[in-house]
Amino acid sequence: MKDIFFEDKVTPVKGLIRRYKTRVLIELTLKCPVECEFCFRIGKKEEGRGTLTNEEIDRIVDYIEKNKEITEIILSGGEPLFVLDLLKYTLNKLKVLDQLKIFRIHTRAVVTAPLLVSEKFLKILSKKYKQIIYLSIHINTSKELNSKVELAIEKIRKTGVILYSQSVFLKGTNDSVEILKELFIRLIELGVRPYNIYQCNNIPGIEHFMVPLKKEIEIMTELRKDVSGLACPTLIVDAPGSADKIPVSLSFWETKLETFKDFEGKTKYTPGLV
Ligand code: SF4
Repeated sequence: MKDIFFEDKVTPVKGLIRRYKTRVLIELTLKCPVECEFCFRIGKKEEGRGTLTNEEIDRIVDYIEKNKEITEIILSGGEPLFVLDLLKYTLNKLKVLDQLKIFRIHTRAVVTAPLLVSEKFLKILSKKYKQIIYLSIHINTSKELNSKVELAIEKIRKTGVILYSQSVFLKGTNDSVEILKELFIRLIELGVRPYNIYQCNNIPGIEHFMVPLKKEIEIMTELRKDVSGLACPTLIVDAPGSADKIPVSLSFWETKLETFKDFEGKTKYTPGLV
């Protein structure tokens, strides 16, 4: 299960994934305190790619500086909270680039290991940056919320960063209106804006988690009727063969769901997704 999203083709410098003109993702580490069964990074972890060094970050920063159209950086993993010194080093190197306007940090540790939301991490977030910091929490079900997680969210919110969430539909875990309603409503009460919910990728080893797209649309349509728009994330599928993130229409629109177009306008067929 190596390079299922063709990331090597869009990696101009080790650790940097560039699918889009203006935003890039830096995979700080592939280390993680947990092993989610549905993790699509597992192939890369098996390759033992580990953690970037400061010198590798320097090369990434050089690349970004030479490509002035890049304005947005996503710091991801693995788990970026697992490598706080590297996170701090990276932010300090990037913050002086005037072209950069947005930093995004993608983490699941707030839910899986809330103790990693340490004073050291909060201090990193609280520093003065010219850029706005957005922090995305990966959370899939209301059962992942408890007093420790909510306290961690509150501490992050007090630093002034903007919080949003990303989720993955998982068969048998959250493919229900009630579970997602409880999750998304609680998130907005906590100051976390539900942003995207993804269809689980149809790849060997985790395909049993996939929920049929029709069912996901039904669930998200019911949710949209029932709760505030603020609490309704966008349903997204990764386009097969490109990993473009394609937003899906809800049942308010009539569509046969047989094909869709990716970001380059190429028609894609949906068997396996619906
Ligand atoms: S937290 Fe993220 S990187 Fe870590 S195992 Fe889970 S899905 Fe994979």
